[in-house]
Amino acid sequence: MAKGSASRPASRRERCLTLDIDGRAVPLRMVRHPRARRLILRLDPQAGGVTVTLPPWAAWAEGTDMAERERDWIGSRVRALPKRSPFVDGAILPYLGQEHRIRHVGGRGAPVRRVSGEFLVSGEAEHLARRLSDWLRAAARAEIEPLAHAKAEVIARRVTRVTLRDTRTRWGSCSIGGGLSFCWRLILAPRWVLDYVVAHEVAHLRHHDHSKAFWATAARLTKQVEAPREWLRRHGPELHLYG
Ligand SMILES: [Zn+2]
Repeated sequence: MAKGSASRPASRRERCLTLDIDGRAVPLRMVRHPRARRLILRLDPQAGGVTVTLPPWAAWAEGTDMAERERDWIGSRVRALPKRSPFVDGAILPYLGQEHRIRHVGGRGAPVRRVSGEFLVSGEAEHLARRLSDWLRAAARAEIEPLAHAKAEVIARRVTRVTLRDTRTRWGSCSIGGGLSFCWRLILAPRWVLDYVVAHEVAHLRHHDHSKAFWATAARLTKQVEAPREWLRRHGPELHLYG
């Protein structure tokens, strides 16, 4: 049976429960989506559980019924998930595709320094994760923002704004007004992957589709298109396991 969790208040749009699968507490998140036409169950690697999206007309019980019916599938997929890697002293973290070790050095000074393959984090241990993730977001912005402006210039377009988010399903997006949004975790991927994602979103400033013309523009803005897409398909989900 699915049990309610006391940690989150009940909401009309979202409900968080826990499934007991072979003695393992598996988070089940149910979300009502105004445009959903049917119930959709998918794995949520970051939470180590599953999400059920419900159309507005569906009862919460239909979501839990679906999860109960799929419990074997859920159990096997959750067991197969790679482990999460929190930001703690001694952990390994990729930065632009290169492995770095996180070290808590304490004391005052710059919150985070990147020195020969290590992230040296100052301050109290309990603030290490927040300091490092703040630093990584800022680093992502510092890499992505100038890149986006430079690429837009090549095709005579203008980027009005760059936003960094922790998006789970998309690496980037482009708004009609010329605002681009990226997942900060791209800073963990190799530089040629990050470069492709920026080129992809910038190409959308000219083509609001994935037409042949769009791909031709994207190819003008970055060296490789196929290899980074393949990298993201294979390794993208792993980037969500850090922190
Ligand atoms: Zn696109």
